Amino acid sequence: MKIGLTPAQQNRLIELGENADSLSVCFEDSGACNRYFQKEEEALVRKNREKLQTLLLEDRRPQLCALQEDLAAALRAKGFLQVTTPALISRKFLDRMTIDGSHPLNEQVFWVDKNTCLRPMLAPNLYDISRRLLSVSPQPLRIFEIGSCFRKESEGKSHLKEFTMLNLVEWGLEEESRVSRLKELAQITMEAARIQEYRFVEEESVVYGKGLDVVDAQGLELASTSMGPHKLDAAWKMSCTWVGLGTGLERLLMSREKAGGIHRYSKSLSYLDGACLSIR
Ligand code: ATP
Ligand code: MG
Repeated sequence: MKIGLTPAQQNRLIELGENADSLSVCFEDSGACNRYFQKEEEALVRKNREKLQTLLLEDRRPQLCALQEDLAAALRAKGFLQVTTPALISRKFLDRMTIDGSHPLNEQVFWVDKNTCLRPMLAPNLYDISRRLLSVSPQPLRIFEIGSCFRKESEGKSHLKEFTMLNLVEWGLEEESRVSRLKELAQITMEAARIQEYRFVEEESVVYGKGLDVVDAQGLELASTSMGPHKLDAAWKMSCTWVGLGTGLERLLMSREKAGGIHRYSKSLSYLDGACLSIR
């Protein structure tokens, strides 16, 4: 009878960053299997320790922080204003996004009290602040925010309950140039994130309807885009053309670093910058 790794052994190796393909090994007896596990575990612990030492001595910040800075700098250089707005938002703001009782995203919202939730997206605050800024700014107005968003997800390999979203929006551009501008903005974003292989696909959003998504070589969604005038605009008293793009920074890192899962690049107590912290 052939012996394979136990589920606990498999989970431990996955936690340490083992490639999923290397887990289906078989042995003649449990002794050989355990020896294999111990050797693999030791090697992976060493690798994770080295990663953490490099982080401590050289990089001194996780890539999530570096990516945040790189994206912000690239967008500011292209004329975008960076804003930072509250993570707690009111029910009224979600209603204006039409995320009410029957909406699919409603199930994913973390409510703090009857009228306050953790924002599942940055768009409501960006709508609100844009309207105020447009009274003092010429068009096109370009703004972006990078900040935490929260969604109740069934937490697969590429979803987090708390993730870092970049949302950018450009108001008041030529209507005919919207698609090409969206592609340009996606290119600026992917270049700043050092993601070389990506493509555009048409996708249906539960909030905005039809839009262009950016997906990586494996088909993983990296970003969603949308454009207006849009039927949501009226509730925010906006009535000009716009293009917008939203992307998750941990998703970008997972794709760029070819990681098996998103968690090792998330805000976490178990991982730091891709390295596992349970290494004794
Ligand atoms: P998905 O289809 O992957 O669940 P979505 O279409 O619901 O994503 P959007 O509302 O389009 O997500 O959000 C914009 C971007 O934010 C996504 O393209 C993705 O990069 C990122 N994102 C969304 N939800 C999560 C999550 N739970 N964890 C990590 N990143 C996320
Ligand atoms: Mg999407």
